[in-house]
Order: sequence, then C-alpha cells, then structure tokens
Amino acid sequence: MNTSSSVGLDSRLLQRLDKSGPRYTSYPTADRFNERFNPQDYELALKTRAEGLAAGSAIAPLSMYVHVPFCESVCYYCACNKIVTRDHTRAAKYLDALELEVDLHLRAWGQPQQASQLHLGGGTPTFMSDLEISRLMAILRRAVEFSSNAEMSVEVDPRTVTPQRLANLAEMGFNRISFGVQDFDEQVQAAVHRLQPFESVQGLMESARSLGYGSINMDLIYGLPKQTPDSFAKTLGQVAQLRPDRIALYGYAHMPERFKPQRRILTPDLPTSVQRISMLEQAINRFRAEGYDYIGMDHFALPDDSLAVAKRQGKLQRNFQGYSTQPDCDIVALGVSAIGRVGNSYSQNAKTLDQYLAALRQGRFPTEKGLWLSSDDLIRRTVVMALMCQGRLDFELIEKTCGITVTSYFKPELARLQAMQEEGMLVIEPRAVQLTPLGWHFVRSIAMVFDRYLH
Ligand code: SF4
Repeated sequence: MNTSSSVGLDSRLLQRLDKSGPRYTSYPTADRFNERFNPQDYELALKTRAEGLAAGSAIAPLSMYVHVPFCESVCYYCACNKIVTRDHTRAAKYLDALELEVDLHLRAWGQPQQASQLHLGGGTPTFMSDLEISRLMAILRRAVEFSSNAEMSVEVDPRTVTPQRLANLAEMGFNRISFGVQDFDEQVQAAVHRLQPFESVQGLMESARSLGYGSINMDLIYGLPKQTPDSFAKTLGQVAQLRPDRIALYGYAHMPERFKPQRRILTPDLPTSVQRISMLEQAINRFRAEGYDYIGMDHFALPDDSLAVAKRQGKLQRNFQGYSTQPDCDIVALGVSAIGRVGNSYSQNAKTLDQYLAALRQGRFPTEKGLWLSSDDLIRRTVVMALMCQGRLDFELIEKTCGITVTSYFKPELARLQAMQEEGMLVIEPRAVQLTPLGWHFVRSIAMVFDRYLH
C-alpha cells in the first residue's frame, strides 16, 4: 500500500489531497445530466438492452440498485437524499411505488432479466422491517432473476439492526454488508447527532462474520466537529481492532448553505485544516501498518479481500456505489433520486417523493433527467475509468476500444499531464501513462484533466 512515508506525502500534497473534486462514479458526472432525457428515453434504453440480449449481442451484466430514502433521525453531516421520519408506515407505501416501478421495467423488457448484483442503499435501508425487506425482494424477483453467486449488499446503520436482523438479512440472500460508523468518539457522535457505542458495532461485526458475510465494509469520516488528531487516533485503533475487510475514509465537506442538516454543526467545533491533514495522514499510516492495501480514492482493503485482488489483477471497476469487482455493469436504479446506467445512457429518478410517486401513479417511469452519452463522452469515460481503476492508460487498448489515436485526440490533455509528471504523480511513457504510488492518491485530479465539461 502507498503511505505517506513511502510515497512522500508532505503536508503541501496532503492539503491538495484534502480538496474535493468529482468522485467519478460516472462520466459525465451527475451534475451534467439534463431534463431533455425523459422517461421515453429511459424506456428506449431498457428495450434496446432486452432486444440486444434476445438477439444474442454482448450486453453488459445487470446490477440492481434500490434507494430507500427514510432515516429515523438526521445526522448533522448528512449530504444524502433522505427523508427523516419516525412514521414507519411510509415504508409500506414506498414499497407499493417500487412495485409499480418494477412492473414498468418488466413491461419494457418483456421478460425477467438475469442480474449478478443487488445493492440496497439510502437513507437507511434497514428503516424497513425484515418483513418489508422480504417483500422488496419478492417484488424485485418479479422482474429479475439473481444469479446463484450474485453479490447482494446492504448498507446498515448500526443503530437500526440487531444480530437477529443480520441473520434474517442473510437468510434473505444478503452476503455483503457495509456499516456506517464515521467515528467512535462519544463527543463527536453527539456533535453529529449519531450515537452508536463501539460495543454495539463490535457485537454486530462479530455476528456478521459468524453469519458468513464477506467483504464487510466500514465507512469513516475525518473532519467532523469535535474531532481531534488524538480522538481520531483512538477511533483508528478501535477500527483496527474490528478489522473490517474494507474501509472507506471520506473527508467531511462543510457546506451548510447547500445541506440544511449541516447548519446544526457549529463552525468553531470543526477541526482546523492542519488538524484535518494530520488525521488524514494518521489514517493512511495506520491502515498501512495494519496491512491494508490502498485501492484508490479513499478506499482501503485487506490484501485477501476481492477488491484488493481485483486491483492487483487490473480488474477493478467503478460505479455509483464506488469501487466494484463486478464487470462493467448496466445498473437499473429504483427509488426516489436513484441514478442508473443502461447501455449508453445515464438517468436519475425524481428527487422528491411526491414527484416520484406521482409519475408512478400515472403509469410512467419517474425519470427526471439523464443523458445519452456522445461518442466523445464514451471515449472519455473509458479513459477516466482506466485511470480511476487501473491507474494506467494503455494507448493501444484505448485505441482499440475507442477507434482513436490517443496522442492526437488527447494532445492538450497529455500536455497538461506534464506538470503532474514533474510532481512525481505519473510517468508518461511512449505508449502509456502510468500513475505512480503518489499519483494514486491524486487520481481524481488526474482524471479531471480528461473531463471535457471542466475545461
Ligand atoms: S447520514 Fe445516512 S443515516 Fe444519517 S441522515 Fe444521512 S442518510 Fe440518514
């Protein structure tokens, strides 16, 4: 793994690393989607996929995503699309809507489709009771046949589950789990309105392991109110003790003008930028010392985890849920605000529950916006994803896939990479660009060079 010491991350570089930029879970990024892409476009994308499959064409495997927007209480750092409510009857009504949405897919496809992956995200998927999640699975199976080795994952808010609930989820077929932890310090948890004692997460981790869940992930955040390098060091020690297979470490971005819950965070409680950098550095060093591999962006995994194996084999992929081991998939996304990718299109559902429900009651897809990728978008997506996942641009491969000559098509971009080469982030070879261990930490900035919408 790359570390601050082995890759020479001095404080100047760490400061750059601590800046936000697109995460490139898609290219073009979701803020480029537009309303010219409508429900008919989405239906066309679905039908084209089904027709291609029926005709025996090579079609990307299918991954399903379901967004469950409800949360019982609000975390003050939250920037997600969620609905805070304690009224659990809303879940049943939401399932009625999901049923309509699934039926529209089945109608467009003509028959159920095979899928190799399911991800339940939110909000809080476990806001739903086990009975409701079981109903959701039955609804999905009307239109989708999950393969026997499908990856079935669920995001879990530790405050909403018990070991028994984890067992019930395993019984329903879930085999991957992701815990939202963020920080174990009580003061930090109080400052972000998310109290979850270490012991309860520890108990759940042990249960998840004994139930056979693989690739257990833990989300952490640095830069939260009341966090200090000392308190965060303690959290890192507790994380090391639990030893999740994967760790996602995000930097908190304070944008109270954009995200209402963040207005409850007091600015004087936020760590200084020097403290932020110190926490980032500590985390990178600690994960290295604990034997984690650096995957890319803000992700770490134990060397025997499938994500680390995929990275070593050059098979890493990237989608809206982050890094993935699955081959390049079409993603059918269900639920309010969900973002999907089918064929050469991206689409996003209505962002408010009222609009989402209204569209479905009128018998139409709740697609609010999206886009058809142009040939330039497709070429740049190939390049951006190669950088994000393999850390290497192999010109021959890109030329074969995209039908271009890299040195002429990307002449200005390659010129811009020179400065990054001088900083030691990459090496420009005659027929390739190779990220260095240092460059992997700045892969976002390197990919941004190829983002046409930013230039
Ligand atoms: S962080 Fe997660 S659990 Fe907390 S309010 Fe946001 S979506 Fe809900």
